[in-house]
Amino acid sequence: MNPLRILQYPPSSSDFSVDSWLHELEKRGMTMSRMNLSIYQENVFKRYKSKSQIARNLSEDWCSNEMYCPSCLNDNLERCSNNNKVIDFICAKCTHEYQLKCSATKFRRKINDGEYYTMNHFVTSDSAPNFLLMHYSKDDWSIKNMFLIPRYFISTSIIEKRNPLSANARRAGWTGCNILLSRIPHNGRITIIKNEKIVDKSKVHKIWERMNFLNNRRPNLRGWTSDVLKCVEDLDKDEFTLQEVYHCKEYLMELHPNNLHIEAKIRQQLQFLRDNNIVQFLSKGKYKLLK
Ligand SMILES: [Zn+2]
Repeated sequence: MNPLRILQYPPSSSDFSVDSWLHELEKRGMTMSRMNLSIYQENVFKRYKSKSQIARNLSEDWCSNEMYCPSCLNDNLERCSNNNKVIDFICAKCTHEYQLKCSATKFRRKINDGEYYTMNHFVTSDSAPNFLLMHYSKDDWSIKNMFLIPRYFISTSIIEKRNPLSANARRAGWTGCNILLSRIPHNGRITIIKNEKIVDKSKVHKIWERMNFLNNRRPNLRGWTSDVLKCVEDLDKDEFTLQEVYHCKEYLMELHPNNLHIEAKIRQQLQFLRDNNIVQFLSKGKYKLLK
């Protein structure tokens, strides 16, 4: 059956249902993502007074009901206990873990996260979760944008230590952290919902798979790969030279102050990106960024 015929299926069947139609599409390798973008629940507003508790409960309930696992496309994410400070959801099928952050304003350059030393430990011990970032509106309580940062893009380069809380604060000395979104390459921010439009989950999964090779690298090495890829992307050119990437040396030294061989590290990362079909080697010192 050609795709146009499938889209008309079944034109006049009396037992037509959206589910049967979608099932037919899926059988033929086509997917259509369905999600209810409303997070509103009257009972949550009745039960909680604090605005942050309301937002937290609405966004978590939405994820439980509507979100899928981008790694294996399992339709259910299971909620973790409230005691777990870093992980909110887990996929029972592939065991990938997720932390959900929600905001009534668009995510920009950085987001506040939890305790710095805890997060740093999770990153360096290869236990960081994937991050789901949800932007909703308080006007109609619906999701406007949502994207995913795969765990293999969470490196120490993007974790910023904040100043400890002052001696007068209730939690004096507590040190939080920021996640620097501005340092994450394009492929490390996978769009799930953009301007209220749902991206097909097969497309989300394809981007996940394209960069999944990073998951097999040690955390400090995958940080290097991600940082060099970000430098290449920032050149904003399809074709680029090794010399142009060398111009990012100061930025990379800032992120990796203990490494004295930055140029060798850049060459090594470009080779690794080439081996995984992210960049193409054209001729001596010349590369192309593959889309
Ligand atoms: Zn999964």
